[in-house]
Amino acid sequence: MSLADLPSLSDALRAAGLDARKRFGQHFLLDLNICRKIVRIAEVSQGDDVLEVGPGPGGLTRALLETGARVTAVEKDYRFIPLLQQLAGAAKGRLRVIEGDALTLDETAELMPGAAIVANLPYNVGSPLLVKWLTGSFRPRSLTLMFQAEVARRIVARPGDTDYGRLGVLAQSVAEARIAMTLPARAFTPPPKVESAVVSLRPHADRPTDRVLEQLQQVTAAAFGQRRKKLRSSVRTLGGAELCVLAGVDPDVRAEMIDVAGFLALAERSA
Ligand code: SAM
Repeated sequence: MSLADLPSLSDALRAAGLDARKRFGQHFLLDLNICRKIVRIAEVSQGDDVLEVGPGPGGLTRALLETGARVTAVEKDYRFIPLLQQLAGAAKGRLRVIEGDALTLDETAELMPGAAIVANLPYNVGSPLLVKWLTGSFRPRSLTLMFQAEVARRIVARPGDTDYGRLGVLAQSVAEARIAMTLPARAFTPPPKVESAVVSLRPHADRPTDRVLEQLQQVTAAAFGQRRKKLRSSVRTLGGAELCVLAGVDPDVRAEMIDVAGFLALAERSA
């Protein structure tokens, strides 16, 4: 069987007797046109290496494979493995299915350097996975990820925005981040309670060092942990006003007004 001969996603799910399970964050995209749109945002093409987390019934996986890319797909729910193996057969060697947990996956061992990551993420592990990919030893070429819209807004938020916080500072320290598409709940089966959004992250050529990223996490935890306080108080244990002056940052403003460059300067000078 070829990719074009596969049954529709709904028929494949029905034939396999599979239902969605809440504990795995399962909200499926059964419309291949939406899946293709996500793949276009990711700019995946022939011969590219892609990691997909949580392929489930395989809609996004099919759209990725249609481009001629090679896909490694990691799925935690064993029930979907036979369906995905069928897809692997149709993809003639371009799909490798791993049954496992993406949180503990060793990407450097499983993927070519610079592979792209594309996923409709399970909402309960979206943020921890993003932090792992932004700070870990595996350096993806790009990340195109579906989140709850609220998390997506936090990732791209700017100083002064209500959603500006730790996740946005970390993400934008490592990558250019933008919301590329929003999707209503009804686009998914079953529909989640909230809207979703695809975030496109393109890592900067010069990622901060691991030490700076570690410090950045400490500085932002302190600063946003007490976001009503001025920086001189909230980062007291890391150097307070003296650290701010060294970093060229005003100690008398709150965390929400410090831009990403300011936080990076604080991280570089703390320790
Ligand atoms: N990609 C499919 C789609 O778009 O229709 C499914 C997306 S669904 C939102 C999330 C998928 O991630 C489910 O298939 C779920 O079983 C899987 N999943 C949940 N937690 C996971 C984990 N820790 N590691 C790998 N896969 C996981």
